[in-house]
Amino acid sequence: MTPATTESKADLQSGFASALESLRKYTLIAIVAWTLMIAGIFTWTIYDQRNREFATALGVARAYFQKDQSVRQWGATQGGVYVKISEHTQPNPHLKNLPHRDVTTDADQKLTLMNPAYMIRQINERFSRMHNDYIHITSLNPLHDENEPDDWERSILKTFTKESDEFAQIVGFRGQPSLRMMRPMVTKQRCLKCHEQHGYKVGDIRGGVSIAIPMAPYRRDSSEQLLLIGTTHGGIWVCGLLGIGFYTRRARRHLEDRQQSIQSLAKANSYNRSVIGALGEGLLGFDAMGRLTFLNPAAVHLLGWKEHELLGKSIHGFIHYLKDNGEPCREDECPMLGVLHSGESHSSRDDQFMNRDRIALPISYIATPLFEQTRVVGGVVAFQDISEQKQSLQRIEYLAHHDSLTDLPNRVAFLEAVDNALANARRYGHGLALLFLDLDNFGVINDSAGHTTGDELLRQVAKRLRHEIRQPDLVARQGGDEFLILMVPVIKEKEKEDITRQLALNATGLAQRVLDVMHDPFLVEGSTYYIKASIGISLFPEDANDRVELLKNADAAMYTAKGDGRDTYALYAGDLAQRIQHRHMLETGLNQALIKQEFRLVYQPIVDLNDGKILAVEALLRLRSATLGDVSPVEFIPVAEECGLILPIGRWVLQTACRQMAQWFGMGMELRVAVNLSTLQLQREDLESSVLQALEDAQIPASMLVLEITEGATLHASPVVIERLQRLHDLGIGLSLDDFGTGYSSLSRLKNLPVDTLKIDKSFVDGVVTEQDDEQIVLTTIELAKNLNKRALAEGIESREQWQCLLRNGCQRGQGYFFSRPVEAVVIEELVRNGGHWNQIPS
Ligand code: C2E
Ligand code: MG
Ligand code: MG
Repeated sequence: MTPATTESKADLQSGFASALESLRKYTLIAIVAWTLMIAGIFTWTIYDQRNREFATALGVARAYFQKDQSVRQWGATQGGVYVKISEHTQPNPHLKNLPHRDVTTDADQKLTLMNPAYMIRQINERFSRMHNDYIHITSLNPLHDENEPDDWERSILKTFTKESDEFAQIVGFRGQPSLRMMRPMVTKQRCLKCHEQHGYKVGDIRGGVSIAIPMAPYRRDSSEQLLLIGTTHGGIWVCGLLGIGFYTRRARRHLEDRQQSIQSLAKANSYNRSVIGALGEGLLGFDAMGRLTFLNPAAVHLLGWKEHELLGKSIHGFIHYLKDNGEPCREDECPMLGVLHSGESHSSRDDQFMNRDRIALPISYIATPLFEQTRVVGGVVAFQDISEQKQSLQRIEYLAHHDSLTDLPNRVAFLEAVDNALANARRYGHGLALLFLDLDNFGVINDSAGHTTGDELLRQVAKRLRHEIRQPDLVARQGGDEFLILMVPVIKEKEKEDITRQLALNATGLAQRVLDVMHDPFLVEGSTYYIKASIGISLFPEDANDRVELLKNADAAMYTAKGDGRDTYALYAGDLAQRIQHRHMLETGLNQALIKQEFRLVYQPIVDLNDGKILAVEALLRLRSATLGDVSPVEFIPVAEECGLILPIGRWVLQTACRQMAQWFGMGMELRVAVNLSTLQLQREDLESSVLQALEDAQIPASMLVLEITEGATLHASPVVIERLQRLHDLGIGLSLDDFGTGYSSLSRLKNLPVDTLKIDKSFVDGVVTEQDDEQIVLTTIELAKNLNKRALAEGIESREQWQCLLRNGCQRGQGYFFSRPVEAVVIEELVRNGGHWNQIPS
């Protein structure tokens, strides 16, 4: 557990304790308030009751007073009442001056006049005795002792003024609480009759009427009511307390439940935090306004911002304001914030966030809206850094579309580009050209100089091609030593009428430029290499309508270029397909020819140019196929070389030539035979053994054999091949450099080659009479041979002029139709038998 979670746990505990304390406090306050309220109400009720008691007693007192007054007034009005003289009613001495104080009735009943005041006093005394109430007339100057005021009455009487009306109070009286009321007695006119003599005038206060009513009976009644009210209030109070207790209990349980929920939540929260914290995925939360509300550690780490720097900031404005294509994105178009409106999740496999350094971080994400009931209140984004994934995807993508050796686009990428270009060409009505380039002699170099050199050469070829190609053209490596070029010509408006012609011109122009740049020697680790190429061109829409056809026809055209002598280009022509078919037939035919022994050798005499004497013969291969008829070696040798059949064929030629020599030898003809070797044979380790085997099988000396190797084959010959040639030469085998002058041999290389003869190529002999350049080349070659201590031999002499010219220039040996065509062995035998001179050959 982290310190943070421990802290929050302590916070939770103390929060709960203080909530409990508050609950206790409020419960106490509620109890006190409730009690005070009930007590207040009860007290008020008592007070009210007391007031009522007082009012009732006062009402009674007032009634007594009114009655007393009425009787008194009545008595005063009547002037007195005659009563029987008795023990209790004696004549009043104060009235002795009245003549009629005492009277005797007819029935001799003695009556005396009773003073109304006296009478009322008598009534009141009796009333008091009967009802326990007290009515007393009193004065500060009483006429009778009975009217003497008590202390309370005196104190009240002293306060009376003319305006005084009434005074009432509950005080102790006769040992019990009683309502005591007093009203002043104000002298009226009628009172003067009796009281004038006492010196009173109208308006004087003579005294007061004092009434006392014991409160006990009223209190008894109200006590019963108070008991009832008190019981009810007590009940209500208890109910209230129970309610408070119940509420407190509920509140406490609620608090405990809440505490438990909070603890569970805190636990879940802490667990979630740990999980979210441990997530490698970045998590971002945002509110309904798109402002960031949380980031997990992975998000902080990936984005480089501190958490507090981003919280409250707009997710769009700060980290996600670019579209996945890198263009600025408006906030209302932001798909991530779109979940706030759509209420549905949104994911993207390829998007980007901006990190703190304002560098785009490639990400994939899923944004999910957060709901409260049905309202979207925010969202959560889970995202992953896909930089590495993207880089490896880009790498894979790159590798899938590029050739690892040359870094050029590969065939797949090229074909895709062709598809696009074709779509555009169709839409805008322009043409396309596809160039298929094959290196002519790369296989030989690769085999002889090694694959490392071969690879480097391919890289250099690619570099030259790339350099030669301009946008929007595209160069790609098809594989091996084959390259493809897509040309999208920029055709000017005025040229539109003759698109095809223009396209062909552009394409052939490009092909020629490519061939030209190939002519410069290639340098690899100090060695010089010459590479030539054949280029086939097919045009859209002239030659093909789709990429398959375009490619196929360019390939076919490339074979035409090869057939045309290589180092050239050819435009696709309609009958090419037939030629390709023919090539395939040729390949099949060559296989069958080997089995069916359809090959034979013819021999062309090599003569001494001085006298025409046959010095040797060159064995030349012929094929008369049952299926193909007669096929020229010019046609079938390249095919045999390409499909490797040249090796068994070459072996057969060697053996047959040697056997023929042996046969001639047996016939007494010592005729050297020159056998042509393919470059492929030269590369083979078993060359020596197969040559020796052929010589041994035929039982002829090595010196009888001459091997012809083309100048081109020696150009890139490795030291191993040179050594091999040297060993053959050391055995006594003659070596001739065929087609000399066509292969750009350097003098230093020539010097080191163990050859005896330089065979001047027919192309120079052809022009030796007519072309000054050719004559110069021939002459130079003859001189060169002389200087290098080698022989010069002219090929393809067809005319007397050529013969004489060559002879004049110092060439001693030659061959050509002028002397003899290649002929069957028997013809050679016949020639030799007849003297062995050219001029004896039948024409
Ligand atoms: P090459 O070795 O340079 O042979 C000379 C070619 O020139 C021969 O053609 C020959 O018939 C031809 N020729 C000779 N004198 C004249 C002439 O006065 N006028 C004309 N127009 N042509 C002349 P061929 O027999 O058709 O052979 C062509 C090439 O085929 C040879 O050129 C050689 O490179 C290759 N070849 C022929 N036989 C073999 C073989 O057994 N093995 C290998 N590897 N290549 C062979
Ligand atoms: Mg030859
Ligand atoms: Mg030749």
